[in-house]
Amino acid sequence: MSYISISPLCAGFFISGNLMFNNDYFTGLELACQCCGKYHFEDETLRRLIRVRERLGKPMIISSGYRCPAHNKRINATMTHATGQAVDVSVAASGAHKLMKIALEEGFTGIGVKQKGPIKRRFIHLDDLDSIPGERARPTVWSY
Ligand SMILES: [Zn+2]
Repeated sequence: MSYISISPLCAGFFISGNLMFNNDYFTGLELACQCCGKYHFEDETLRRLIRVRERLGKPMIISSGYRCPAHNKRINATMTHATGQAVDVSVAASGAHKLMKIALEEGFTGIGVKQKGPIKRRFIHLDDLDSIPGERARPTVWSY
C-alpha cells in the first residue's frame, strides 16, 4: 500500500511507503523521512510508541523518525532509523526520566540518551530492534 505525503522540506508530492494506521497521537509526517517524506515506519513500533504516549499523558515531540538510507548515510548515522523502528524524542530532565522509565517498561530495547548541551537539543532515542549485525546488541543503553 502507498499513500501521498508532502515533504516538509521539498515543495513536491511523493508517493511511497506503507500506509500509517489512524491514531490520535502521531501523524505520518512526524514519523516520515525529513528529506524525502517517505514513510516506512513499522506498525508494531508505532503501537509501542502509542502505548508510551498514552501512559506519558502529554505530547511527544518527534525530532527524527524514519530515515531513508540516503538520508541516513548523509548524516553518517547508524542504521537504526532506517529500519523504521526508531524515534528521537525531544525531551529533557524529569520528562526524559519519565519517558525512559515508561519506554523500558513497554519493551523498547535501545535507549540513547542525549542530555547534555542546550535544553532544546536534548533528546531520548528509542528503538525496539532485535540484535542486528553492525549495531549494538539489544537490549542496550548508550549516551551521545
Ligand atoms: Zn529521505
